[in-house]
Amino acid sequence: MEHQLTLADIQTGNRCMIVKVHGHGGFRHRILELGFVRGEVVSVLKNAPLQDPVEYEIMGTHVSLRHAEAQKIDVVSLSESDHPDIDKDFHGTIEEHVRLEVEKLSKEITVALVGNPNCGKTSLFNYATGMREKVGNYSGVTVDSKVGTFHHRGFTINLVDLPGTYSLTEYSPEELYVRDYLDNQSPDIVLNIVNAGNLERNLYLTTQLIDRNQPMVMALNMYDELQRSGDKLDHDALARLLGFPVVPVIARTGWGIDNVLEAIVSTYELTTTNAHKHTDSKGEQYDCIRHIHINYGADMEAAIAEVKSLINLNDDKRGLFHTRYLALKLIEHDKTTLEQFAGCANYSDILAAADRYRKQFEKEYDEDITSVISDLRFGFIRGALGETYQTNTRREKTEMGYALDRVLTNRWMGFPILFLFMFLMFEVTFVIGAYPQEWIEQGMEALSGWLRHVMPAGMLTDLLVDGVVAGMGAVLVFVPQILLLFLCISVMEDTGYMARAAFLMDKLMHRMGLHGKSFIPYIIGFGCSVPAVLAARTLENPRDRILTVLTVPFISCSARLPVYLLLVAAFFPRHQALVLLAIYLIGLLIAILTSLLLSKVHFKKQDNPFVMELPPYRVPTLRNSLIHTWDKAKEWLERVSTVVLIASVIIWALGYFPRVDNREQVDASDLATLQLEQSYLGRLGHGIEPVFRPMGMEWRSGISLLAGCAAKEVIASSMAVLYGVDAETVEDNPQPLAERLRTIKDADGNPLFTGLSAFCMMLFVLLYFPCISTLATIRKEIGRGWMYFSAIYSTVVAWVIASAVYQVGLLLL
Ligand code: GDP
Ligand code: MG
Repeated sequence: MEHQLTLADIQTGNRCMIVKVHGHGGFRHRILELGFVRGEVVSVLKNAPLQDPVEYEIMGTHVSLRHAEAQKIDVVSLSESDHPDIDKDFHGTIEEHVRLEVEKLSKEITVALVGNPNCGKTSLFNYATGMREKVGNYSGVTVDSKVGTFHHRGFTINLVDLPGTYSLTEYSPEELYVRDYLDNQSPDIVLNIVNAGNLERNLYLTTQLIDRNQPMVMALNMYDELQRSGDKLDHDALARLLGFPVVPVIARTGWGIDNVLEAIVSTYELTTTNAHKHTDSKGEQYDCIRHIHINYGADMEAAIAEVKSLINLNDDKRGLFHTRYLALKLIEHDKTTLEQFAGCANYSDILAAADRYRKQFEKEYDEDITSVISDLRFGFIRGALGETYQTNTRREKTEMGYALDRVLTNRWMGFPILFLFMFLMFEVTFVIGAYPQEWIEQGMEALSGWLRHVMPAGMLTDLLVDGVVAGMGAVLVFVPQILLLFLCISVMEDTGYMARAAFLMDKLMHRMGLHGKSFIPYIIGFGCSVPAVLAARTLENPRDRILTVLTVPFISCSARLPVYLLLVAAFFPRHQALVLLAIYLIGLLIAILTSLLLSKVHFKKQDNPFVMELPPYRVPTLRNSLIHTWDKAKEWLERVSTVVLIASVIIWALGYFPRVDNREQVDASDLATLQLEQSYLGRLGHGIEPVFRPMGMEWRSGISLLAGCAAKEVIASSMAVLYGVDAETVEDNPQPLAERLRTIKDADGNPLFTGLSAFCMMLFVLLYFPCISTLATIRKEIGRGWMYFSAIYSTVVAWVIASAVYQVGLLLL
């Protein structure tokens, strides 16, 4: 092949015609959008050698590109002097002549064969090109490549047989050679050959190629050996997961090679025209050349994101390689990549960030960074194979994944183990958590008593005791349980078990219109919806993410627990656990129904599937688990110290003002009731009472629920304030709140609460309005529109269900 002219070679004032655009997917996409598509004419307005940027006119608009970017665009010159050989008999314009040449050049595809040693590259090369290269164990001293040219369906294919490599790092001359070729020669298609008999190892190189975001096709070679082994691979499903065609071949006999060529041609056509459909072997269409991101786990992804944002400050680096790939390479301390960045203005920042993360990972995992990243790559590979590869059961197969996975993700043993772990988690949370909870409770009581004792009676003391301490106290008692729950979840995540749980739950979750990875947010949702919504980030597809985020608030978080505990203690003393369980299950049921409804009505189209990584099992370190616990609990604690505090004070103030002057000298408890009735809160409560009536609730419950919009912890604390068990009343009427609720009567002497109305209140608390913090998080994660949807939908659902249950209950009972 002679040197191909690029846009960077065209001098100022000259014109040329575009043949094709090379480079990684994001770059190609942007350039194509600017109008640099095949057959377009470009005029060079200013191209000073060695000077950036270069200016062009294309389709009537001015565009400037970097020199390095222009080098990625193949062109044919339109200057007459560049076509001395133009046939005297050719009766068209020079443009027509060049158009024919562009047509011819665009039919030329350069394909680089990349794969492990001995996976059959040369065999495939020989078969396709009809050449006779030496096949067999590579014992070469020289690192070299061979190019063979042949024709297929009107296309000219230049096949490049590159040396075999296990990886694309820089340990061997072969690796450096292949990398250099891919970096600088811009093949149109990378043909990744893998040995189907040893996929786990072969796919390692594939993950590195995926990171580079170049157009790819996979030849699944030695398919005969796979078939002989009795193992099964759903290669169409694998292709969907990976985002490029996967074609089975037997290179030695030539079986399937035509299909590989077919896939190469169609992928080439799709990438150069920016279209995305491909037909698999069963004739179904799917998004073939979708670039996937291998998910390296929350910690590594955060590191990549930060380094990436620093890289993006350099326009000239962005175009050349996929920035995600560069970021990962920098964290890996890859010398070649570091050299590429040496001249950048913020080189020291980039280096500092990459080094900081590298050291952090090396310390956390006690391994060098290359092993850390390769472990994460194998997590992706095991996940991809776990979904597509079935080993022949008669054959003992230990090399696939871990022995533990055979138990933990087993269809029969997996679920009981999962339920056991879930049970243990809730046991630890609620049983062990009860002790510190009691201490905090006692501490709070002591604090109130002491405040009343040392401070003069008056408004400030009332504010502190009844507002701040009572309100905060009602929430602070849950801190130990929340922390324990998050600790359990973090330990399960850090050991790698959570990924197995997600894997196991995948089929079941799919039936509900969700994804296996939605399981983790759901579990976290039992603690608090805010970190649960954040945890939905691991779901790659917008559809799955939105559905998970919208349904998570129906999972009963621990903030709702105090209300349930209060009401079951008061009205269902003999069936406490049963009623609680029913409430939790109803929440789950509504979440599932919502998800099914939305997937029927709004998200009809199924998104592309993605790999669920199975990261290596690790013994969790206390330090890591504590860090991760803190990450989850931080947001929750911040909320307690702000929203709940403010809400408590507001509720207290609304109930405290305007003051009733006690001229008639009524006794203390009647005065407290009178005060509440006449306060702003009382007036507001009576105003909104009609809304709560159908559910069997009166105004004080209504107020508590209204206050609970800020944070559901507030409901129980407001009820404590509103149903008059403040310090003064408790003195002469020492009934605990539950007893008080059971006995309190309205003006006609009927009980205010019944078992039915208490149950309906629990239903409403379970389902209505996600708290403000959750909504703010929902907005941050999936947008304002969905936030409004979530707020309105959940409240309507809650009201309809609670009212219906109450009304039907009244008729029946
Ligand atoms: P390279 O190192 O990647 O170039 O691999 P070669 O083409 O030299 O092949 C390595 C060995 O694998 C040779 O002995 C081939 O005969 C054998 N081989 C190649 N393709 C196949 C195949 O599809 N099935 C089987 N069973 N063996 C193959
Ligand atoms: Mg070879």
